[in-house]
Parts: sequence; C-alpha cells; structure tokens
Amino acid sequence: MKHASEGKRIAHIKISNLTNGTHRYEFECDASDFADEWIDTERFSAPIFITAALTKAMTEIVVELSVSTTASLQCDRCLAPISKRLSGDYRILFLQSAEAANGSDDDDDVRVLSKNETHIDLTPDVRETLILAVPMKNVCQDAACAENDAPIKREFSQTHSKAFESEWQRKLAEISKKFKN
Ligand SMILES: [Zn+2]
Repeated sequence: MKHASEGKRIAHIKISNLTNGTHRYEFECDASDFADEWIDTERFSAPIFITAALTKAMTEIVVELSVSTTASLQCDRCLAPISKRLSGDYRILFLQSAEAANGSDDDDDVRVLSKNETHIDLTPDVRETLILAVPMKNVCQDAACAENDAPIKREFSQTHSKAFESEWQRKLAEISKKFKN
C-alpha cells in the first residue's frame, strides 16, 4: 500500500555511492512534516528523532530504523494528559537488482531496488513505525485513577475516527502474522 505523500521526505538517503559496511544517519522532524492525518500535531507535539543504520554488503542493504519521540496522550480512565516516551524499530532488507524493480511494495520487509535507484526514502517506514509505537492502553500514574475500576471512558481520542483504530488493528494483525511465520 502506498501512502499519499504530501509531506516532506523525512528520511531520504543517497545510496548510489554507499560503500560496504555500516553507515549511520540521523534525522529530526516534526509531526507537521508528515502532512498526514495519522501523525497529528496534537499527539505528536514533540520533535521526532530518527536514526537509520544502513549496512551494505555487495548487493544487499539492511536498514535498521529507530524512531523515538515524546507523545501527548490521554489516560484511558480519567482522560488526564500523559506525556509518554515512544520508540519503535523497523528492519528492512533492500536487494539491488540488475533488472528494473517491478513495483516493490513499500509495506514489505524485503524490497527490490533497481540498479539505477540512487536514493531510498524511508519516510513511509518512519510513519508506520511511529504509529505502531503508540501503546494500545494508556493509564496515568495517579493513585486515585488506578483505584478507579470504572470502565474505560473512551476507546480512542475523540479527535480520531474509527478509521484510525481499524487501520491500527490491521497493522497489529499484520505484525502478529509476521511473528507467527
Ligand atoms: Zn488516569
């Protein structure tokens, strides 16, 4: 699945002259750079830090992506604001092919790069990693709240549609499928 990308290229890396070995890259961005409704500026109010380690060996490039930020969340029980450190990792294998890559899917962990591709754009992967890093449950540290056994007041932030949740559940299902394999 391709994501409409009206946002900037947040993690765009030149690979045309990459030598064998590990190369580290760091990026910093803001939620607004994504221009994406899932990366809302209210929740992702702090700077987003990205590191990418590219390990090249012959015609393979292993990308280890780490994304971290502090998100502004809400307690599921009492709706108190919670500031939470989020981090997520993602690993992708790029294979350089002599032939033209025929429509490799951005959601795959293994992707084919044609010889004439000079850059890889990890922006969609940063996005996915960030969305997946948001915990399903968020409960504040307040003792009164912890004792409160009242049912959870909200399923998700009111500002998010059901679509967000189902997109999210789809992602989780995909991940658990991957772990079973
Ligand atoms: Zn609470």
